[in-house]
Parts: sequence; structure tokens; C-alpha cells
Amino acid sequence: MVRIGEIGAGSIAETLELRIGTRILKVNGERVRDSIDFHFLTAGEELAIEAMEPDGTPLHCEISRDPAESLGIVPARDTIRECANECVFCFIDGNPPDARAPLWLRDDDFRLSFTYGSYVTLTNLGPRGLQRLVDQRISPLYVSVHATNPGLRARMLKNDRAGLILEQLATLLDGGLELHTQVVLCPEWNDGGELDRTIRELKALGPGILSLSVVPVGLTRYNLGRPVRLLMSHEARRAIRQTEAIRAAVRDERGHHWCYAADELFLIAGMNPPPGEYYDDWPLRENGVGAVRTLLDSFAARRGRLAPLPGVERVRIVTGPSMAPYFEDFAPCIAERTESRVAIVPVENRYFGPTVTVAGLLPGRDIAASLHGSRSGDLVLLPATALNDDDLFIDGFALGELAARLAPARVRIGDELVETIMGGAPMDATAARRTPDAGTFADETIHREAGRGRDDVTVRDGAIVSGTGRG
Ligand code: SF4
Repeated sequence: MVRIGEIGAGSIAETLELRIGTRILKVNGERVRDSIDFHFLTAGEELAIEAMEPDGTPLHCEISRDPAESLGIVPARDTIRECANECVFCFIDGNPPDARAPLWLRDDDFRLSFTYGSYVTLTNLGPRGLQRLVDQRISPLYVSVHATNPGLRARMLKNDRAGLILEQLATLLDGGLELHTQVVLCPEWNDGGELDRTIRELKALGPGILSLSVVPVGLTRYNLGRPVRLLMSHEARRAIRQTEAIRAAVRDERGHHWCYAADELFLIAGMNPPPGEYYDDWPLRENGVGAVRTLLDSFAARRGRLAPLPGVERVRIVTGPSMAPYFEDFAPCIAERTESRVAIVPVENRYFGPTVTVAGLLPGRDIAASLHGSRSGDLVLLPATALNDDDLFIDGFALGELAARLAPARVRIGDELVETIMGGAPMDATAARRTPDAGTFADETIHREAGRGRDDVTVRDGAIVSGTGRG
């Protein structure tokens, strides 16, 4: 069932005097389970709609329309499907006890996967659910595999159904769907020989598996060692070698490298990110695969645009500790071209603990504490990935409050470093300004399963409001 959330002006729905809040139960005799069903079932020209008005009055509408004519029904947002797992590395368990309500949502919703590219485990879908994905051509999907060994996957997800993954993937591929897959690498769980097996068995499923990314587990002070620990650098290097072992062969066969190590794996390994060719056509940049290389190349390509900044004496660039060294490398060039002093501000994350080093999870209060001594003539650059669509940091601290605390320093928020430095008038506490989204100066190495921040699925009253998701 879906509820009508909006009615388009001048549409068929308005002519029929349909009302917001009316529940659509069936279309052409088929049950409507959610908005995807609704759009799928109402694609035709002849429609018989069974509905129930907000006061409980049944309604039946027969519609014959021109294909170009809008029905004018915008379904209200769907309730999110939650996961049926208790993963040993679950990022939800890493939340501070006072985390905001949306951060506790264990979403595992194929609609978010299809729409926003978040990863799902498929454990909450039975045969009929999988068939629906095939029937409605919900592709590509993003699937968290973690391990193809059935017993291991069941232990990692604490769900016996998790062991069905290879059969489930085969069903979807046989139905013509395409899938991106990922492994969240947990040392002494699914690394070593298990990772080799997972790579091998996913590759054997054929070209319908569009990609495999290998992402190190992210843990906070709240779930560290319970029971998973962080990857060590030599383990990260070994995992990178394991991915390398298959990349060249797949490229010769399929024309792309297929298997990618996430940015954070290179950071943990202490290795520079590989060149742009590594990422083919960047299929997973939004998922933290290639964002660091994008940052480096973007700065190299755009630094010529840097110019003196009137009224700015000091540029302070806020980031997480993992990316600070790259910004330190940029600093002399920025200082020379802008004729300003440049200070990189790596913010220690006290909210989640020191194991969390990415910019996208920086709490507003920790940023404020790190920027003491702000003064007139300062330009402060904040990573846009640390803010959700309501301009709140992960700890619920508001951007406006931070900007007010930093006054009279000026604040800019952006995704791309050079654009953000040069991007128009700085904002004050009441006028946030974002620069165009063109690459990123924040480390987007936040894996969906460990990432919130800018990647929040924002949920209000159990409904998807905005954002991209995790899995
Ligand atoms: S990691 Fe994702 S799928 Fe696993 S228990 Fe947590 S929310 Fe559920």
C-alpha cells in the first residue's frame, strides 16, 4: 500500500479529486506494496485503481490516458526495510549512546540500494522478494557479500539465511540483473584465504557482477574488538595484493579491472593511492573507491585558479587525520597563490574515538574545539561531507552554531578544495554557501557500512527523507 503524498496541479489525479493521504491498494488487480510497485504498475495507459480515502471510504477509479499525460500522484515516502542481521562489525553498534535517532536505523532496503547505491545483504528477501527484483528489473543493485563461504557469512551476519548468498546472487543474475558487490574486510574473519575464495567465487558468477570492492572494517570506541578488531597495515597490504592478483586477468577478459581496493585500504597500508587508470570509469567513487585520487588530481588540475584572497590572512582547512598529510602537501602552493597563511586542522574525533579519522564523521563540537583562536581575517573551510541536508554534523551540532562561534572568522563549506577556497563570497553565521559539487576535498573514504555523515539516510518517522545509504 502507498499513500498519496502529493497531487500534481492540472493532473488526472486532481481532475478525479483524489486526496492526499488516500491509500492506493491495488492497480489493475495487483497489490501495491510500495512506491516502486506503484510506478511499475501505473506505467500503462489503462488503469483500474482501488483505493481507500483517509476517512475509510473505498474508491475505485478507471483511467484511460494518453501515455504522455501525467497521472499526478506522488506517493508518500516508503517505510524503510530494516535488516535481519546482527553483523559482528555493525556500524550501528559503534554509535555513541546519545546518537541521534536516524543513526540507529538498521536499514537493509533494496529500494535504497537501487535508488542511492547503498549496499544490502539480501537476507531479508525470500524467493518471492528476489523474484520481484527480477520482475521489476531493479538493477543494478549493490550487495554486501563479505564472504561467499556460507558458514562464515552466516557467522559474520549472525543470520543463517546469510549462507544462501551464492544462490541468491545466481537467481538475480539469471534474471538478468547486474550487481555491484563489496567485502567489508574483518581481520581473522574474512581475510586471507577466505578473501581469495570470495574473489574467486564472485568472479566465477560472470560479468553480471559488475564490480567487487574491498573495504576495511571501520570501528569506533564503542564496538572496537567486540569481536572484530581493526586491520593492521601489513594485513591491508596483503589484501591489496590479493585484489591485484585478479585485476589484470579480468581486464583482459572484460575490459575493466572489476576488483578495487577502497581508499581506506591504501591509507591503512601506508600506500599512495593508485593512478586514475586503476579506477576505470570510477563506478564506485561515491562509495569511497577513488575519492582520494580524485582529490589529488583535482587539485593538480585546478590549482592554477588559486589567486590572492582579499581580506583573508589565514586559510584554515578542516579535515580528518587520515587526509591531513595530503592537505599539508597542498598547503605551500595554496599559501603562495592566495598570499595567505595556510593551516591544516586535523580534528581528533572524540565523539567516536580516535579510530575514526575520516572527515565525513567529524562532530561539530570537536571541530569547534579545534578551531579556537579564530579571528578576523581567517577563512575556515569545512568539508561538506560532514554535514547532512539539514546542516547538522554527526553529533547534531548545527552549522549555524559553529559559524557563530567562529565569528568574526568567515566559513565556507565545499566539496572541491580549489573551488571552495575561491568560491564566491565567504559565508557568515547566517548565510552558508556551498560551492558546486566537483570532486571533493573531504576524504570520501567513508564506506557505506561505516559511514554516516553526508551519506546519511535521513529518516523521519520511519520514512526515507533524503540521502544515500549504507547496507
Ligand atoms: S552492518 Fe548493516 S546489515 Fe549488518 S547488522 Fe548492521 S545495519 Fe544490519
